[in-house]
Amino acid sequence: MRDNFLVFGSPAIGQEEIDEVVATMKSGWLGTGPKTHQFEQEFADYLGVKYCAAVSSCTAALHLSMLAAGIGPGDEVIVPSMTFCASANAIIHTGATPVFADCTLSEMTIDPLDVKRKITSRTKAILPVHFHGRPVFVKELQEIAREHGLFIIDDAAHAIETQYKGEKMGHFADCTCFSFYVTKNMTTVEGGMVATNNKEWADRIKVFALHGMSKDAWSRYSDKGYRHYQVVMPGFKYNMTDMQASIGLHQLRKLEKNWLRRKEIWDIYNSEFKDLPLILPAPVEENSRHAYHLYAVRVTEDTGVSRDDFMQRLHEQKIGTGVHYTALHLHPYYSETYGYKMGDFPNSEAVGDTTLSLPFSAALTDDDVEDVVRAVRGVV
Ligand SMILES: *Cc1c(COP(=O)(O)O)cnc(C)c1O
Repeated sequence: MRDNFLVFGSPAIGQEEIDEVVATMKSGWLGTGPKTHQFEQEFADYLGVKYCAAVSSCTAALHLSMLAAGIGPGDEVIVPSMTFCASANAIIHTGATPVFADCTLSEMTIDPLDVKRKITSRTKAILPVHFHGRPVFVKELQEIAREHGLFIIDDAAHAIETQYKGEKMGHFADCTCFSFYVTKNMTTVEGGMVATNNKEWADRIKVFALHGMSKDAWSRYSDKGYRHYQVVMPGFKYNMTDMQASIGLHQLRKLEKNWLRRKEIWDIYNSEFKDLPLILPAPVEENSRHAYHLYAVRVTEDTGVSRDDFMQRLHEQKIGTGVHYTALHLHPYYSETYGYKMGDFPNSEAVGDTTLSLPFSAALTDDDVEDVVRAVRGVV
């Protein structure tokens, strides 16, 4: 057995990130400034989109994207029940109502057929989640959105490197929101980004993110001289800082290298587990790309052990695991507030009850991966 506990979702941080953070601390400019702007530009270049706005989290990115789209009280936004709570909470923060839709069992992404069933005269947007890094059914959702005049606000928290039909993220939705939380594919510790090709929305999001002030702090205090600002709306405090961007600039440069390492681990898991009574992740659609954010297996009756016992036994062997996620409609807040109950979304419930995510990060060593494989094979 391992000597130390293998933590689930550890970030891969190098000397470059450390040196950049130290340099920023010594520079005298720690808040939103040149490095944040550089990070926005380089992220936009990576995706090939026109505008990026760096914010404090993906939750903030989703919230402001919906505000930019004019979504508010009385509106409905369709979101999968199988996602992290932040996807739905961001809708609630605008004053709108989250309306859940089920996922497909194999891809675990939002089911376009169920989206159609959930549309009402109040529906303003669909908020799909590129779940675990797998692209959603983009074409089908775009058709529904076009037909009903809905916005698409993409939750791409898992999906920075995802591609659909050869095209990168940021091109399928009105706004695409990314997360740089510590466990995500790249990190700024906490942080998020909105990508959009809509200049008016990008500007509005930047104003919203910093108190609703017409000029950001960097422009006010740069060497161009003091500039007066005006408050044009009651904004939020959602800005990213140069300390965070210092990490992000280098994480972005390592994104593809780290993706390749995760792909390597993904392929090892797939081949080592293919003979076991477990359901492995569905293959990726032709000409699309999985971001390989999470590797989740599904436990079935054939597995011979319950999901929770499986996790417990891996923990006893010092292997950390996670559940992504318990279906949202079963959490007390959403069920009590919106009247959802067990049985409403069978596929989401099945995913929530039977999947577990294995350690999966570019920071894993070959020995770590071997330990995971040995422990999983041992339990099954
Ligand atoms: C992590 C996550 C978020 C929230 O990201 P933060 O940057 O922590 O706000 C939103 N949606 C999904 C699917 C996530 O996994």
